[in-house]
Amino acid sequence: MRMLIMGPPGAGKGTQAKVIAEGFGIPEISTGAIFRYNVANQTELGKIVSAIMEKGELVPDSVTVDLIKDRLGQPDTDNGFLLDGFPRTLAQVDSLDEILASLDVELDCVLSLIVDGETLVARMLKRAEIEGRADDNEETIRRRFEVYNAETEPLLTLYRDRGLLVEVDGLGTVEEVNARIVAAIKK
Ligand code: AMP
Repeated sequence: MRMLIMGPPGAGKGTQAKVIAEGFGIPEISTGAIFRYNVANQTELGKIVSAIMEKGELVPDSVTVDLIKDRLGQPDTDNGFLLDGFPRTLAQVDSLDEILASLDVELDCVLSLIVDGETLVARMLKRAEIEGRADDNEETIRRRFEVYNAETEPLLTLYRDRGLLVEVDGLGTVEEVNARIVAAIKK
């Protein structure tokens, strides 16, 4: 299985990505988690991305694409992978297409989690309390929604046109949403 999981900030991508990837026995690759790890460990990459993330802006495509290219070249992705948080721009879609073509593989599906705006904000504020993520404050959250709407949402239409989009209602418990996703993928 080669999949992407998409959805606005707070849709539950990260949580679902972990459960689904485990179920399918494939690695879950989250660009956001990789960046946060590098920020926490003050690596060179962490120094480049930390201020950008705190503002809710996107890390430059060149940085993100190199990271994904390297990660998808590793052997644990041979039987599949689930990408969480990449691609986020049309340019990243083009880069992903090139990377996959060079590996001679194709995407099987693109999961899209549908959650209403009010629930998204409530979830993110709750996460801010629990996880203390530096980019979960009110101003940054607003900016991340703007960036999502402008840069990332158009990708849903693109993947729908390619016949890859699988839309799933993201409201409910982790188990309920997961059951819906598994049923939708099987279809
Ligand atoms: P996430 O955990 O997916 O919400 O990502 C957290 C932050 O990491 C985003 O707000 C961006 O600053 C950065 N980031 C993650 N993935 C990407 C990507 N594909 N392109 C650019 N920036 C990204």
